[in-house]
Amino acid sequence: MKLSEIPAVLREIGVSPVKTLGQNFLHDNNLARWIVDQADLNANDYVVEIGPGLGALTEFALEKGARVLAIEKDNRLMQFLRERFADENFEIVHGDALQFDTRPLCAQPRVKLIGNLPYYISSQLLIKFLDYPSPISLSLFMLQKELAKRLGAAPRTRDYGALTLQIQLRYRVEYLRTVSANVFIPKPDVDSAIVRITPRAHGELPGCDSGVFHRLVRRGFSQRRKQLGKLTREEVHNWETIAAELGLDARARAEEVSLEQWIAITNRVAPLEPAKTKDPPEERFQLVDQRDLPLGGAPRSQVHANNLLHRAVHVLIFNSKGEVFLQLRSRSKDRYPLRWDSSAAGHVTEGETYDQTALRELEEELGIQTALKQVAKLPASDRTDSEFIGLYFGSYDGEIRPNAAEIEAGRFLQPALVDEWVKARPDDFASGFLECWKIWREKNP
Ligand code: SAM
Repeated sequence: MKLSEIPAVLREIGVSPVKTLGQNFLHDNNLARWIVDQADLNANDYVVEIGPGLGALTEFALEKGARVLAIEKDNRLMQFLRERFADENFEIVHGDALQFDTRPLCAQPRVKLIGNLPYYISSQLLIKFLDYPSPISLSLFMLQKELAKRLGAAPRTRDYGALTLQIQLRYRVEYLRTVSANVFIPKPDVDSAIVRITPRAHGELPGCDSGVFHRLVRRGFSQRRKQLGKLTREEVHNWETIAAELGLDARARAEEVSLEQWIAITNRVAPLEPAKTKDPPEERFQLVDQRDLPLGGAPRSQVHANNLLHRAVHVLIFNSKGEVFLQLRSRSKDRYPLRWDSSAAGHVTEGETYDQTALRELEEELGIQTALKQVAKLPASDRTDSEFIGLYFGSYDGEIRPNAAEIEAGRFLQPALVDEWVKARPDDFASGFLECWKIWREKNP
């Protein structure tokens, strides 16, 4: 929409821009087209747009053939947007983007997020939509320039801080360009910038306990001028040694510490036991014959290398809303890292029963105890990696504290959503889970 058209449209629909909703409408069509180009959209994309306003970006996203779900808080714009984009690829939701449930997005094959964000809640929106793990493969935002600089900042700069590290731990941030306040109507008091945010590739950075990472970072930046060792004294007991090992001055301040060094500090404070310590190579699994009758034990490495028949359990935990808890497997797992899996799962060790393993895994992985019921037994096959699987069901409504060494993240999800997700993106899941979920849904449609 051109500069000259916006006041006329606003008059026609009886809307005057509201400052409290961060309403500054983009009137530069070339820029709007350029912004949307940076998201590399095509007909396979499902785009979520936060705050479409009068549709400056929406128009070009639809032009690319993408489906667009727009979330707009201002009810006065609804009718206008519906009429302007009477397109089967366009859907609009009236509401606050901060309240939007992102979980159903998992059922879409490829999700991208765009928005010329309302500046009064930009940071909250970023944290909400980028909350890890997220199904969003790319985010393209227009932000207040200062915030954009903070997101992409490097160590030893004024902009580098807790928010930088919070986002950069999981995402790459590219500062694409600065945008003058003149391209908006009404003209805001500040300049803007475009950033593109994409998830980091698997293995790009070492893993760490993200809860501890964020806590240390927040403490470290709570008083920027103070030495990090002093601010984190309560948690980082041997700071001098750690600093020396990481090549840091013991008097370093938080802003001098790189992302990789923050991860290393986190791992010194709260080491992630490598996943193999749970099932170390010398640990012996229960071997079985074709009828699942016990044969004796063999070391884990031999079992997997030779596809020997063995036993495993999968546990599905449901809450009282009927949602199932799924875990994202740790990035340090040797099998299916960063794939979604049953609430808890693991191998039956030599001499252990299925029931004992199920209770043990539940406690080790989720830190909980609850009664479990075996609901199925799956035969060993290629799809189960030669495992006979005991499938268990349990109910739990309390707090779940996943073991960070085993589990990257966890979510409660409606079973119908899991069905759609499995259909849309089966590669997001460990194969044993797919087998178990199929059986569970056959029994509990
Ligand atoms: N995308 C349009 C453009 O580029 O011209 C409008 C951008 S304007 C900066 C921000 C938009 O976000 C406005 O349409 C405003 O009504 C909307 N908005 C403000 N708060 C919102 C919220 N909490 N949830 C969804 N939309 C919101």
